[in-house]
Amino acid sequence: YDDRDGKIWVDGQLVEWREAKVHILSHAMHYASSVFEGERCYNGKIFKCREHSERLIQSGRLIDMEIPYTPEEIDAAKYAVLAANGWSDAYVRAVAFRGAGLDMGVSAARNPVQLAVIAWEWGSYYGEAKWDGARLDIAKWARPDPRTIPVQAKASGLYMICTMSKHAAEAKGCSDALFLDWRGNVAEATGANIFFVRNGEIHTPLADCFLNGLTRQTIIGMAREKGIVVHERRINPLELASFEECFLTGTAAEVTPVAQIGDITFTVGPMARALSEGYEALVRR
Ligand code: PMP
Repeated sequence: YDDRDGKIWVDGQLVEWREAKVHILSHAMHYASSVFEGERCYNGKIFKCREHSERLIQSGRLIDMEIPYTPEEIDAAKYAVLAANGWSDAYVRAVAFRGAGLDMGVSAARNPVQLAVIAWEWGSYYGEAKWDGARLDIAKWARPDPRTIPVQAKASGLYMICTMSKHAAEAKGCSDALFLDWRGNVAEATGANIFFVRNGEIHTPLADCFLNGLTRQTIIGMAREKGIVVHERRINPLELASFEECFLTGTAAEVTPVAQIGDITFTVGPMARALSEGYEALVRR
């Protein structure tokens, strides 16, 4: 990913892709003082652009890191990167982090907070699973208790166990890992929220200890507009076998059906397909 042509926005400047580097003493590298966003641009328009910029700033505040840009400036940076690379359909990644500076310990309030915006072409996040259904492996790690870490921040530190769990899942031939939360209830995948369908109604875990995804909120709204009942509630893993359908939602994943969790199989069915089509129409509107 590092050795290619293109431009990346770093601290207010568009720089050559190959030259977009950070110092090895960046605080973020050592202590995970980093927050980020994942967005998609469709037909030249970033879906929920402002909401993502605001969530980035909010994630920064949740980890005691004030990002020195306004939502307007962040929006402009994203469009500048897309224009500089000539893309109208791309994934957009903004990342804010504590850089290198005066301090090199846990406390680094005097180090500058940096912002970079990158875009690249990223097709279907789960590849073929977008149509055939993803297979999920239950992770050995749990989404943490909200008293232990700011769970609503899209902060890098929360992804350490995601990478570990996804590696373990992929080693078993699965597309992703499904996390339970610290209480043992169903939570989310490593980069997407999860939904279930039974008797025409939708059930999804309450987002009380993991990221309440913008796609999750969009899909809940869309389903309710169609008159579909949506239950946001605690879901015990023993219930999994009683659901007919399952699907994942996320900016990268969009709406991806799930065919299997461990030994439990689901129909790659009509609800996921209808909501996926509805989502596709909405983001390209
Ligand atoms: N959970 C996690 C852990 C994620 O990384 C993501 C992707 N940002 C999501 C859920 C879905 O969030 P969104 O719909 O806002 O992309």
